[in-house]
Amino acid sequence: MRETIEFRVPAEQANMFLEPDLGTWLGDSVRKVVLPMEDPRVKFIGDLNREFRKKGRAFFTGWEISRHYTRRELEAAEVLQLLIRTVFEPEGEACGTKYDDAAACPLCGAGAPQLTELHLDVRRIPRKKDLAVTIAGEVVLSGRLVKALREHGITGAEYRPVRHKSGAVSDEWRQLVVTSTPVDIVPPTKTGAGPFDLDEQGRYRCPRKHVAGLNLISELWVKRAGYDGSDWARTRQLIGTRRGVLRPQEQLLISPRLYRLLRELKAKRFDVEIAHRA
Ligand SMILES: [Zn+2]
Repeated sequence: MRETIEFRVPAEQANMFLEPDLGTWLGDSVRKVVLPMEDPRVKFIGDLNREFRKKGRAFFTGWEISRHYTRRELEAAEVLQLLIRTVFEPEGEACGTKYDDAAACPLCGAGAPQLTELHLDVRRIPRKKDLAVTIAGEVVLSGRLVKALREHGITGAEYRPVRHKSGAVSDEWRQLVVTSTPVDIVPPTKTGAGPFDLDEQGRYRCPRKHVAGLNLISELWVKRAGYDGSDWARTRQLIGTRRGVLRPQEQLLISPRLYRLLRELKAKRFDVEIAHRA
């Protein structure tokens, strides 16, 4: 596995502290820098950011860790984390989906049951995709994909109707609801507020253990015991925070069999990371 990290650095700071030819410009105000995780400049950027934070600023304004695997590594994986790359808005709540927020954890906001079918502005779901997720974490699958999942007897999920804002049922989309037994996130999984901030104080961890952290920083490790072997699985602990329309989100896991099927179908648009059972 090869791990890289991308930083978005404002121009003024990039010009002052980074080599002139490092990274690429996005417009004329932000530099995008991608480095292998073990590159010494990653630590340098982390140290700079720590100094900036002391002054109430940030050296970089965005970051993302990517993991790259060989075909052989992917084929040997026991379980994979599914990352849906098509994200859209508005979220369900803005389109009439009701949640029981009164039942959510008062500390972290997790666990508000969805009371109605998922209502969306269906025209806003990106076209020609098979998997998409709202900014609030609601996952929809194309009819084509759902048909194939059913034909292949893929287990562990229901595909529920999606409704237009008007109330009419969509012919094209279904909501993915994972129904298999949730699996526990376990060490050595790392979560944090940022790549250099593992949130030692637990600002983003629910004391009642509903939310494990703001971001996943490492690959995902889940408890072997309690995994019921379904093709679709989800984590019991959520990642993220309740802020505005955002909600902490369960992490999706898929079996090797489901991964092969998504690849054969050329389902758009997803990536996977290897997850581990411990
Ligand atoms: Zn909680």
